[in-house]
Amino acid sequence: MARAKGLVIAIDGTAGTGKSSVGRAVAEKLGYGFLSTGGLYRALAYQVFAKQVDPADEKAVLETAQKMQFTFERQPDATLKMFVDGEYLGGKLHLDEVAQTASKVSTHAAARAVLTEKMRQAGRDGGIIMEGRDIGTVVFPDAEVKIYLDATAEERANRRVKQLVSKGNPADYEQILASIKERDLRDSTRAASPLKPAEDAVKIDTSNLNMSEVIEAVLKEINKYAS
Ligand code: C5P
Repeated sequence: MARAKGLVIAIDGTAGTGKSSVGRAVAEKLGYGFLSTGGLYRALAYQVFAKQVDPADEKAVLETAQKMQFTFERQPDATLKMFVDGEYLGGKLHLDEVAQTASKVSTHAAARAVLTEKMRQAGRDGGIIMEGRDIGTVVFPDAEVKIYLDATAEERANRRVKQLVSKGNPADYEQILASIKERDLRDSTRAASPLKPAEDAVKIDTSNLNMSEVIEAVLKEINKYAS
């Protein structure tokens, strides 16, 4: 099926595999938009927290999701900047507590359906790279290119430590590793849209690859589709 603005490219995988950096860089090269869909789950987690909703309360989480208005604004670096009810939540969404709560609220199928619909609207015309956990399996099972990135939990924890230290923040390797493993386990064992590679996804292990090598591997797959 031809889409108005180009292909839909799905990049899924575990936390900390470089999905965002790689996706954004590839989108910039192609002149495509880039959406990090974890942002929608993080925004839901943030609202759940702000409204003192219990993340385990399926109905209350669904109602919170239904009330949220998402808008996206394309930035010069390809990113689709997300606004919730007109507000840019920015750095507030990057806290580890928000990520953990996101992983909890994202276990609810009904709330997932609401956010999945927003993602489909954002990507409907193509010309987009979407990064997440279930883009190739659920959000866009008909995506033209599907990539699944993975790396060992230890390597991902190392990268996170380096990232925090480079920004002058404290970093505890053991704590970060435990948090990554906890989120991986919850994301991959939940009943609703568990994290798993689509059958037709190209799997890339990024443990021993640098960013440019991963970008190159992803571009190669896209070129294969185009040729
Ligand atoms: O990718 P990011 O770390 O921002 O995702 C935060 C959480 O949102 C993930 O741990 C996962 O539970 C959830 N998520 C999801 N499906 C997506 C994207 C993110 O369930 N497509």
